[in-house]
Amino acid sequence: MHLIVAEKNISARRIAEILSDGKKLTEHKDAGVSTYSFGDITTVGLRGHVVEIDFEPGYTNWRSEESTPRSLIDAKTIKIPTERKIVSLLQKLSRKADRVTIATDFDTEGELIGKEAFELIRAVNPKVVIDRARFSAITPQELKSAFSHTTELDFALAAAGEARQSIDLMWGASLTRFISLAARRGGQNILSVGRVQTPTLTMIVDREKEIEAFVPEKYWQLFLETEKGGERVEARHTHGRFLDKAAAEQSRDRTKAPLMVTDVRVGEKQDRAPSPFDTTTYIVASARLGFSAAYAMRIAEDLYMNGFISYPRTDNTVYPPSLDIEGILRTIRNSLFRKDVDWITANRRSVPTRGKKSTTDHPPIHPTGAATWEMLGDDAFRIYELVLRRFLATLAPDARWKTLKILLDAGGEEYTVTGGQLVEPGWHAVYPFSEAQETILPPFTTGEQLPIKKVKLDEKETQPPARYTQSKLIQRMEELGLGTKSTRHEVIAKLVSRKYVEGSPLRPTLVGRVVTESLEQHADMITKPDMTQTIEAHMQQIKEAKRTREDVILESRQMLHRAFDQLEANETIIGEDIRGRTAEEMNLGKCPVCGGVLAIKHLRGNTQFIGCSRYPDCTFNIGLPMAQWGFAVRTDEICDKHHLNFVRLIRKGARPWDIGCPLCHHLASNKESLDEMPSMTGALAEKILSKHIYTVAELARSNPESLAKRLDIPEEKAQNLISEAGSVLEKLRRRSECRKFMRDHLIPRKGRSYAKILTALKTAGITELSGLAHADIALLKSAGIGEEEAAQVLSEAKTVYYGQVLKEIGIPAVSLKKYVSAGITSPEEFCIHPPEYLSQITGMSPSTVKRHVELVCTYLKMPVPKTYSKQQIERGRKELQAIKGIDKVTIEKLSRAGIINATQLLEADAVTIAAESGIMAHVIQDFQKAIRKKRENAIIEI
Ligand SMILES: [Zn+2]
Ligand SMILES: [Zn+2]
Repeated sequence: MHLIVAEKNISARRIAEILSDGKKLTEHKDAGVSTYSFGDITTVGLRGHVVEIDFEPGYTNWRSEESTPRSLIDAKTIKIPTERKIVSLLQKLSRKADRVTIATDFDTEGELIGKEAFELIRAVNPKVVIDRARFSAITPQELKSAFSHTTELDFALAAAGEARQSIDLMWGASLTRFISLAARRGGQNILSVGRVQTPTLTMIVDREKEIEAFVPEKYWQLFLETEKGGERVEARHTHGRFLDKAAAEQSRDRTKAPLMVTDVRVGEKQDRAPSPFDTTTYIVASARLGFSAAYAMRIAEDLYMNGFISYPRTDNTVYPPSLDIEGILRTIRNSLFRKDVDWITANRRSVPTRGKKSTTDHPPIHPTGAATWEMLGDDAFRIYELVLRRFLATLAPDARWKTLKILLDAGGEEYTVTGGQLVEPGWHAVYPFSEAQETILPPFTTGEQLPIKKVKLDEKETQPPARYTQSKLIQRMEELGLGTKSTRHEVIAKLVSRKYVEGSPLRPTLVGRVVTESLEQHADMITKPDMTQTIEAHMQQIKEAKRTREDVILESRQMLHRAFDQLEANETIIGEDIRGRTAEEMNLGKCPVCGGVLAIKHLRGNTQFIGCSRYPDCTFNIGLPMAQWGFAVRTDEICDKHHLNFVRLIRKGARPWDIGCPLCHHLASNKESLDEMPSMTGALAEKILSKHIYTVAELARSNPESLAKRLDIPEEKAQNLISEAGSVLEKLRRRSECRKFMRDHLIPRKGRSYAKILTALKTAGITELSGLAHADIALLKSAGIGEEEAAQVLSEAKTVYYGQVLKEIGIPAVSLKKYVSAGITSPEEFCIHPPEYLSQITGMSPSTVKRHVELVCTYLKMPVPKTYSKQQIERGRKELQAIKGIDKVTIEKLSRAGIINATQLLEADAVTIAAESGIMAHVIQDFQKAIRKKRENAIIEI
């Protein structure tokens, strides 16, 4: 079998579809992983990397004494499978294969993924022939040529990828750990530092500082409005910016009729057709259409996988001679863009445009297939159209503009108007995405006189430099050699998800800024691009086989050790600096009770809440959901009423949960429970809120005397409020207990929500365990619980609830356990069964059981069953044991029916006893006969 290994499932399928060329294609699924077979060939897709590099075991404990952050620099690394199912299928197929072709993406990352597959295959089949197919587009022509000219895997290229992985892991892990520990941050709150990430963040922070340090300067601009042929035309003073207001005013005052046209200069401008797309220019162009860098890349990858465009990760801006431009034009002619293609065919420039960078791996991004809107949907089609039109534009002639510069004079002051007209649209005819605009002026002639309609002096201010947009930042990263065409947009996305930067354009958050500044001060080599550039240069040397991977990693280790020398020497200062300055990012505003500072607090173990800086003098606090529902952060929005910052819970991969103003939220969530107090009125509610009492818990905890004073009400009324609050609190506790019970006892199942079941139960009036214990199965079923599960929930609820009641009645926990394990769960059972029976089945002494039975029956207001003394019981037992056929078990069964001696057994109704004891009626009748006979004999003996 010939096995073809593609980078992803979708490309495995496309490759199979194309190569099978009409042969029967079958899809197999093995543990959820698809393979595609035709003839002797099978294709399988990976999921990018199927193994991951990590430290060998022993480095997971952040606080370990031996494995310090620095120790990670020299830690050994291992490869762990991340996609076990794919790995095992790949190995299973490889055992049977006699040839394997690696057909992963054609770049460093793809070569590394290919090498990972190579190693997995070699591990199970050391002899199989493994070759490599390289292609830049998943199209019939490219694939057929690639598979008929396969080569070897490029181990040097893969080694460069591996070196990058190792270095990134080592830098990221050791520095992140060091800074987080120094700042005492853990869990979801860690401070990440990275080889590319940190210098990039530094650029954003530096720009922000430039903006802040910028002092705007005033300047003035002079404009004049005239009219020609009924059209208003604005001219500007040729002096440009006046920095001196008086001078500008003088020029304005001198501007007087007549206004004369002194010169008309006609010129021509060549407007070069744009060069082919590489990754960066593509991202910039798609940003103009409103796509973020990461989204634009995702769409481009999709289009590539489906054969519509070529590989989108490329640094090349020159079409290679081998690129079949006529073929591409023929292909895309079968689309909505036929007219444009035909125009290009008729008007083509002699050679396509070319950019500055020429590399040999991939051609510039170009279309490879014909697509329709229906096939792609809105966004993907817009991107497809952009790529297609850009390709056409690179084949189109340059455009030509006619430029016009009019000079005017009014009282010795010179003004000018400029215009531009596209005389030959050239590439603009097929590429409407450029910003160039025509300004068409009415005809002017030298010497003509015009009216002055208005003279206008504008006061303006110089503007600070602009913040980076994502695409500008990517361009800048490329210029500085930060990251690669494949990683730049991911680095930015990471900075956003780490809460280091926000907004569009990008600005640093407080924490982003603090971390950067602290590192800059104490270990600036981490924040500067130089070090990363050096490493990138080393990667290039590995690719060209001029240096080994080990050598480069070793050098990188030494660099990092030097950084740690600086960092460790300053650990305390760095930690205190970051902690001190970032505390502010959690502040929300003034405490409504005492005027202290209200802030979000994160404790260990996912607990988070809002508390006051004057704790313990001020105990005001607002509870928040546990951090696993989202890590609480402050947002920029501020409540109009309470002047507090809004709070938001953020969780990776989930929509943020907006809490809004924490105090509004607090009031709203406590209103319902306060309203449950019988004597709560609108006026009273307002009063207690104005005295900063927000919850029933606070009321319940109050002392009557001080509450009376605080609310200015009689102490008796205060006492009443406190006890009402206490009962509401108790009710709330029972409700939450019931909710927790349901959550603990219903197995999570797809398509079922607890919230829905809880709402249904609430509608049926069941909010507490007591209600649940007394509910019938039909009701639980109608709330959406299955029959079997309902029975189980019910029995569990009974056990738990009755356990609570019995405990409340005064049955000690140890005894309760014995009753429950003997099958006695409900309080009523204590008053139905004879105490002797309870004593027998639990093994507790009759006197203890008697005490329990009295307690329970008195509580339930049920009669206490008759009890006997120990001697009476012993005597009865002996009597019964003497009767033929009665053993220990039978005695226990009889006692359940209240029979403890022979006389009782003789006098009882056999059928009734049978029902209560579980002994068959005819057996009881036999016992009765035996007793009677024994007694008769005894009389005769007398
Ligand atoms: Zn306070
Ligand atoms: Zn509010």
